[in-house]
Amino acid sequence: MGDKAVFLDRDGIINELVYYPEQGIVDSPFTPEQLRLTPSAVEAVNRFHGLGFKVIVISNQPGMAKGHFDEPTFDLIRTRMRESLRKGNAYLDDEYYCFHHPNGVREKYRVVCDCRKPRPGLILRAAKDHGITLAESFFVGDGIVDVKAGREAGCKTVLVASANGLLLKLLKEQDAEPNYLVKTLEEATRTVEKFAEPHRTKRIREKLTGSNSASRRIDPHA
Ligand SMILES: [Mg+2]
Ligand SMILES: [Zn+2]
Repeated sequence: MGDKAVFLDRDGIINELVYYPEQGIVDSPFTPEQLRLTPSAVEAVNRFHGLGFKVIVISNQPGMAKGHFDEPTFDLIRTRMRESLRKGNAYLDDEYYCFHHPNGVREKYRVVCDCRKPRPGLILRAAKDHGITLAESFFVGDGIVDVKAGREAGCKTVLVASANGLLLKLLKEQDAEPNYLVKTLEEATRTVEKFAEPHRTKRIREKLTGSNSASRRIDPHA
């Protein structure tokens, strides 16, 4: 069996979304200066690592196709993200990005691809590269596309969003109901922790008794 991972969406989970008043939209940071970590990003990444998960970013960045930023600027944004995490002794095992958009202005990225969420291409690639067992893994994101991609790849899904009637209706209509719906990343972290802890408890008990005869795998869904 391979490793397990927590796949994290980036915008809205690791870093704050940016408001662009001229266009009246909320979008990804387009410059390194705009990148700010969310309040519990560092703690979440560290706790996932503490639970034995790899932590891998899976993110759509169609701003590349749309001409909002170019490759060198995007590298600076990534550097700023990694450096901000490092200040809290947090790190990412890997990052996977889709730069495509079917209506992009840059021809190179104007394609219908299999890596843009809700498609699971990036997750499948990451699982292959890192020897990840997807059924033991989580996808944590703040969008419906995150739930869809995570489900399609065979992960357990955690959606970070406020559960209003409209959202619940949308999730149902789009057949995109997550395994867990939580309000904050902090709550998502506790959810993954609760799930992962039985395994940990089991290992500790095996260590104490020197045998595994008394223990069996605890399925939190049972
Ligand atoms: Mg997001
Ligand atoms: Zn793509």
